[in-house]
Amino acid sequence: MREADVPVLIIGGGPVGLALAVDLGWRGIAARVVEQEDGTIDHPRANAENARTMEFFRRWGVADAVRTSGTPQDFTQAVVYATNLCGYEIARIDRPGHGGSGGTAISPERPQRCNQLWLDPILRERASGFPSIDLRYRTRFESFTQDAHGVDAVVRDLATGVQERVRAQYLIACCGGRSPVRAALGIELQGSPAIEYNLNIFVRIDDLWAHTSVAEAAMYFMVAPEGIWRTLIDIDGRGLWRLGLRGKAYYDDPESVDAAAMLREVIGADVPFEEFWRRGWVARDLIADRYGSGRVFLAGDAAHQNTPSGGFGMNTGIGDAADLGWKLAAAVAGWGGPELLATYEIERRPVALRNVRQATENFVGDRKRQIDPAIASATPDGDRARAELRAKLVASQSRQFLTDGTALGYRYDGSPICIPDGSQTLPDTIVEYHPNALPGARAPHAVLTDGRSILDLFGRSFVLLTFGADPVDADRIGAAFRTAGVPLVVHALADPAIAALYERSLVLVRPDGHVAWRGDAAPADATALADTVRGARASHVERAG
Ligand SMILES: Cc1cc2nc3c(=O)[nH]c(=O)nc-3n(C[C@H](O)[C@H](O)[C@H](O)COP(=O)(O)OP(=O)(O)OC[C@H]3O[C@@H](n4cnc5c(N)ncnc54)[C@H](O)[C@@H]3O)c2cc1C
Repeated sequence: MREADVPVLIIGGGPVGLALAVDLGWRGIAARVVEQEDGTIDHPRANAENARTMEFFRRWGVADAVRTSGTPQDFTQAVVYATNLCGYEIARIDRPGHGGSGGTAISPERPQRCNQLWLDPILRERASGFPSIDLRYRTRFESFTQDAHGVDAVVRDLATGVQERVRAQYLIACCGGRSPVRAALGIELQGSPAIEYNLNIFVRIDDLWAHTSVAEAAMYFMVAPEGIWRTLIDIDGRGLWRLGLRGKAYYDDPESVDAAAMLREVIGADVPFEEFWRRGWVARDLIADRYGSGRVFLAGDAAHQNTPSGGFGMNTGIGDAADLGWKLAAAVAGWGGPELLATYEIERRPVALRNVRQATENFVGDRKRQIDPAIASATPDGDRARAELRAKLVASQSRQFLTDGTALGYRYDGSPICIPDGSQTLPDTIVEYHPNALPGARAPHAVLTDGRSILDLFGRSFVLLTFGADPVDADRIGAAFRTAGVPLVVHALADPAIAALYERSLVLVRPDGHVAWRGDAAPADATALADTVRGARASHVERAG
């Protein structure tokens, strides 16, 4: 058996494993990714990148590629509920902040639609461009043991059959919903393993809208007396669509489905199409009891699985990668304290719980809705049924498609490495994001005088923002960070609007862009501050006023 040594071993080269590899490569940390498949996308699932994911992609240098590779920028982002595409449009949710380039008031990046067909190769190319990253496709993880100093994993090259023992300081399981690592750790999933069974059929329809009468949209939800029962979702803005059918019979026997008949129902007309794939999937509501054990951690679908309603699965996983990446880098570089990696679960599991719950509420809300039997009839009863449903759908389903609050507003309240300052916390919102610089929050976007986003200052190290603070305070914090070996960059900003947004004259931002601490003066014990935010102390430093 061959032997190898690597600081971080990542199991799984899906979007989350690749994102973690990119983050580590960007930080100069060596990692190996083993992926059992050859990198071909078997089931193009995720389409939607939220603004937070796009901010991470911006940091990693792939936002432009993501923005220009998926659905074209001028393609509609609207969501339409209709009886069929030649029938009645019932409700329409426009999303003016989605797609296109340039920032919005709340982010330098807009949510995008770039299917995994293009996203995974972009991440793969970026990861493989880092000299410290070693991507191994057609390589299967088989088993591991761990001790106090590291992990011994056995992987097999599927082309040659040769096994290799890989010694790593840390093993990260990004190996999806059926994670063999999670199983080996004996970690249970809580929740529902099967809310509903579904079938996706991928088709090309040239010039769909030449055949239809309802408004152009990126996502269509079909309403019938049976419920909201079929979907037609844009994949590339160039004619590739995903027809979604709910029902166990379709899932169990996909080949028996008459795709032409289904499309006729959804479109309301016979339209020429070409079919590519049929893939079943199960809507789940699951979260792992623990996010790892010892030196082994779970990320992405290995740790949480939700229904696609809202597009949270991969986005939550990319957030895991961004949280874990800098902590692994700190641990490998030696400045991370012994408690730092334990904060990964403390910070990320509540976010997953929140997002999984929200996805299930969206999914069930759509599926359980009672539809008036007159919904498609050309009668006054039909008009009334459609008007009533329109009001209900716009009121209740905007939260599925407009999710800036979910994407940008999550906070690591209660994390032992974020130091509360006594400010009143803000409610957790879904649709609206309320910019704030509370400890634990994503440091909010603002445009600097040179035109960059303030977010562009964050990532490589801790950042101390000073807004007219006494330089002696910044020096004291800087000295404490130097002594602890923690990388810190100080930026003095003069813009009063940004100062007002950040609310304190000193704001310490972590490498992942979250606020760790803020105050109007350095704490009396600046060493305790540095030790707390690097996970070297269990207790908090004094509260700053
Ligand atoms: C219909 C549908 C639509 C969706 N749309 C969205 C969306 O718009 N936005 C969104 O955010 N999410 C969406 N999702 C969810 C999203 O697809 C998943 O959350 C995401 O793919 C999870 O990424 P991952 O890297 O954690 O796992 P996966 O994508 O499952 O990747 C895991 C990888 O690990 C590999 N692997 C497993 N075992 C081993 C082993 N022993 N050795 C080596 N490799 C191994 C697998 O081959 C696989 O490549 C959707 C899901 C569905 C079903």
